[in-house]
Amino acid sequence: MLPQNPPPFSSSTHLNLSHWVPKTGAEGPGQRFALWVQGCAIRCAGCCNPEMFGFFPKQLLTVDDVMGMIRSAQSQYLIEGISCLGGEPFAQAEHLGLLAEAVQACGLSVMIFSGYTLEEIRARHDPHAERLLAHTDILVDGPYREDLHTEERRWIGSTNQRLHFLSDRYDPEDPCWKQKNSVEVFFDGKELRITGFPKKEWREEVVRWRRQIEQARTTGHPEKNKSHTS
Ligand code: SF4
Repeated sequence: MLPQNPPPFSSSTHLNLSHWVPKTGAEGPGQRFALWVQGCAIRCAGCCNPEMFGFFPKQLLTVDDVMGMIRSAQSQYLIEGISCLGGEPFAQAEHLGLLAEAVQACGLSVMIFSGYTLEEIRARHDPHAERLLAHTDILVDGPYREDLHTEERRWIGSTNQRLHFLSDRYDPEDPCWKQKNSVEVFFDGKELRITGFPKKEWREEVVRWRRQIEQARTTGHPEKNKSHTS
């Protein structure tokens, strides 16, 4: 469902990213460069990335900046594509459309996770959104519904969300779509990163770890901090 006053699909001069990882096997088929955009007006209850709701500038990058990182991941890790999550990718359709076009031109695939349905996106008749769709191989659409939560659908969080094969690059009958979800947790030198679909209890653990790392960063000693709070 669209928010009452949906924001325009393109409103900034740069891509505004929350973060990215150069290689993950938990956000779509094969190894992929994954990027999370900042800002989402849909604000589903139970969303696992509420810190990405706000439309404040987080990390502003040009399409060329991001393409440079993707090309580097392509040569270093032999990724087969990118996955774009959020946040809401279609809130940044202008720059993501250009990025997706450049990504496909490098022989890589594009997978997008959007909280809007395909019909809602098309109904906006937004040329930037149409360009992004034209350069998307796989679209997972629709908002996350906590009441329809599932851990049985690979890469998909609730049963209402749909998988659209917008190009013939992937085979809907490939067994990869039916395998179990996976999770990767790693520390990138600054932040604890989690990719994939962890169980709810796991997410709470990760939030706790993040808090401890943040405490360690600010106090230099997590245990010392712990004794202060008890
Ligand atoms: S659309 Fe996606 S990012 Fe936005 S609130 Fe829903 S689950 Fe979270």
